[in-house]
Amino acid sequence: MMENREQIMEQAEEAFLHTYNRYPVVLERGEGVYLYDTEGKKYLDFAAGIAVQALGYHYPGYDEALKSQIDRLLHTSNLYYNEPAAEAAGKLVKMSGMSKVFFTNSGTEAIEGALKAARKYTWAKGRKDAYEIIAMNHSFHGRSMGALSVTGNAHYREPFEPLIGGVRFADFNDLESVKAQFSDHTCAVILETVQGEGGIYPATEEFLKGVKKLCEEHDALLILDEIQCGMGRTGSLFAWQEYGVKPNIMTCAKALGCGVPVGAFLLDEKTAAASLAPGDHGTTYGGNPFVCAAVSKVLDIFEQDHIVEHVRKVGAYLESRLDALVNAYDCIALRRGKGLIQGLVIQGRPVNEIVLKSMDEGLLVITAGSDVLRLVPPLVITEEHVDEMVEKLERVLA
Ligand SMILES: *Cc1c(COP(=O)(O)O)cnc(C)c1O
Repeated sequence: MMENREQIMEQAEEAFLHTYNRYPVVLERGEGVYLYDTEGKKYLDFAAGIAVQALGYHYPGYDEALKSQIDRLLHTSNLYYNEPAAEAAGKLVKMSGMSKVFFTNSGTEAIEGALKAARKYTWAKGRKDAYEIIAMNHSFHGRSMGALSVTGNAHYREPFEPLIGGVRFADFNDLESVKAQFSDHTCAVILETVQGEGGIYPATEEFLKGVKKLCEEHDALLILDEIQCGMGRTGSLFAWQEYGVKPNIMTCAKALGCGVPVGAFLLDEKTAAASLAPGDHGTTYGGNPFVCAAVSKVLDIFEQDHIVEHVRKVGAYLESRLDALVNAYDCIALRRGKGLIQGLVIQGRPVNEIVLKSMDEGLLVITAGSDVLRLVPPLVITEEHVDEMVEKLERVLA
């Protein structure tokens, strides 16, 4: 076993394809909402593995559910039925109010499925020239070729062009700009209910309702990407539920399994009835018994332990503490966000310097866009953890 931090980082860099500039820390274990590195240093975790560890680490009952599934059955393929997948699907459909679900291994694959479902829907309706997808500038939907095609960041897209055709970009929270891209060729609009990677921008109610109306007028589908903002993070199980704007297709991943690789796309009744059919889509691993045992347990915990209600309370507290920081420090221009997905816009100093200094102070935070400090802690943090985070952050900002 390699016990030395430098040795581990060196060996990793020797073998990994260099696609990440990693922070110089080797994480070893987690407990509650804290992480520990190989040197035994403790970090308050306000990154949660990029909004994945909604229940923190070793939440009561979670490990046991996974361990007992390992002892029974890890994988079967989707050629057969298994109980954990049936259970997880039933719970997710019920709790989301959507009609049908398809499990994937990641967020980007959930987006691929959503795009295919939308294309198949208009095709099946005989509208074969209605293939255009309207996506948003500054959006992020993943790294596979299809998801990249609808990601509103030219820097991510350009080296890989040509991507899938028929994608038009509009400005988020600018209804007129979306309207300008609509035509008889429009198949679907895809957007994040709260833009994450792009800098933590919640959709305005007027915008989301307006886009939904445009979709209905043109018989186009609304795809809401809830991969980052969903699963309780904004203070409702799915962010769109607060707006009263139900998507035709929804994507979900990150916190869905709270640490196991699983995503999903869900269809409403009308879309499910006239979209993907046997032979149109598949996955070997997707929704296997192991990851579905996790999903099933996570959804039970959310319900039994009132996780979403907790987010509403602690999220309001976090907002008030962050607003005080905005007032107190010139280097923070403003706060954006909802519940436990928050961004602080940093001015006059590099945001990455704040991230690195926070690590020295024993606090993990991440960035979004070029100048936003992103806070996406486990949903189970308490007001005391918020106070501890603010204390540490103030030492960095001072
Ligand atoms: C993370 C993310 C994705 C991609 O998910 P992966 O699991 O990394 O493929 C897609 N959309 C949004 C909004 C995300 O935050």
